[in-house]
Amino acid sequence: MNKIMIEMPMVANCMANDCAYNVNSNCHAKAITIGDATNPCCDTFMNGSQHTKSLSRIAGIGACKTGTCQHNEDLECMADTVQVGMAQSEVKCMTFAMR
Ligand code: SF4
Ligand code: SF4
Repeated sequence: MNKIMIEMPMVANCMANDCAYNVNSNCHAKAITIGDATNPCCDTFMNGSQHTKSLSRIAGIGACKTGTCQHNEDLECMADTVQVGMAQSEVKCMTFAMR
């Protein structure tokens, strides 16, 4: 496998414990995608009772499509870390701040 190293904001924690990537309120995907144009939902969320076994890594924000957020620059997240949680029964980036 070819590998790349890239700087990304880290997912500090995630309260969507039903997600397959979530173990102990941490996200263990390699990277997640946030949002559509206006709603900063977690696009990588996958409901599942079987959870990832790769616990050594913590996810980064690979891309964010919510350009209306203050932390968004050129459709990438520039925050240091983000928190993900539940809002209105959706999994959302809680670090979102409207421009
Ligand atoms: S950040 Fe998204 S992909 Fe990661 S555990 Fe939470 S809901 Fe799942
Ligand atoms: S903080 Fe803003 S730019 Fe970063 S992932 Fe959340 S919604 Fe996107």
